[in-house]
Amino acid sequence: MVRIAIANQKGGVGKTTTAINMATALAATGWKVLLIDLDPQGNASTGLGLNQNDRVNSSYDLLVSDISLEECVTPTRVPGLDVVPATVDLSGAEVELVEFEERTHRLKKALDGADIDQWDICLIDCPPSLGLLTLNAMVAVESLLVPLQCEFFALEGLSQLLQTVERIRARFNRGLSVMGVVLTMYDRRNKLTEQVSDDVRACLGNVVFDTVIPRNVRLSEAPSHGLPALIYDHKCMGSEAYINLARELISRLPERKVAA
Ligand code: ADP
Ligand code: MG
Repeated sequence: MVRIAIANQKGGVGKTTTAINMATALAATGWKVLLIDLDPQGNASTGLGLNQNDRVNSSYDLLVSDISLEECVTPTRVPGLDVVPATVDLSGAEVELVEFEERTHRLKKALDGADIDQWDICLIDCPPSLGLLTLNAMVAVESLLVPLQCEFFALEGLSQLLQTVERIRARFNRGLSVMGVVLTMYDRRNKLTEQVSDDVRACLGNVVFDTVIPRNVRLSEAPSHGLPALIYDHKCMGSEAYINLARELISRLPERKVAA
């Protein structure tokens, strides 16, 4: 199982939108996908139509108790897509995790201990911080997918993120890499978008995906219907972009099976 965390310590840059729609696009190609909602706001869970009653065990349980991964997984209405939902309990997890000796390795342990071959890929939707929840994700995965909004301070936030990645690599997870940066809420009519995009590509080169995610109102409407945009309106520009991004992501994975 490939493990990818979707991370950026800035809020509102498109992490959750990317998590939901990439997970759906990958499931649509026949992959078995597991999405772990690691944000106490639980937007990925809500955006996939899970109500509070569906969230019996959650990512909180996965981190702080010895409940197995399998017991925390809930199916979604998207065929091939399972989710470990988040509940508000997770907002207390950062404090509770401090009590554990291996506080940065709780998620990795839970994933390593599970029968993970039932999924081809695991995506983790991170919260907007570089706290213990995001660190747990960075220790548990082999790569990061970083959504970046084309705005003035985008690169500044990114350098802070990359410094954290370096620290995690040095101390806990030598194999961690940034598999891609995706430009989100891209607005071709906006000069600043173009300028920031050029800067980001000049600075980071190939790590930036060719595909950009346009600013698209359908992407922002879909979660209120409890549906991925790819199901809510599979023909909208946003959905098309995520299908292209999923293709690009697959092409970047080493030795992946070509899905049916
Ligand atoms: P994050 O998880 O990084 O905080 P979200 O994915 O929740 O970011 O996005 C923040 C807000 O912007 C949400 O209301 C979402 O619906 C909206 N949004 C995200 N991506 C787009 C896009 N490409 N076009 C329009 N709205 C978007
Ligand atoms: Mg989010």
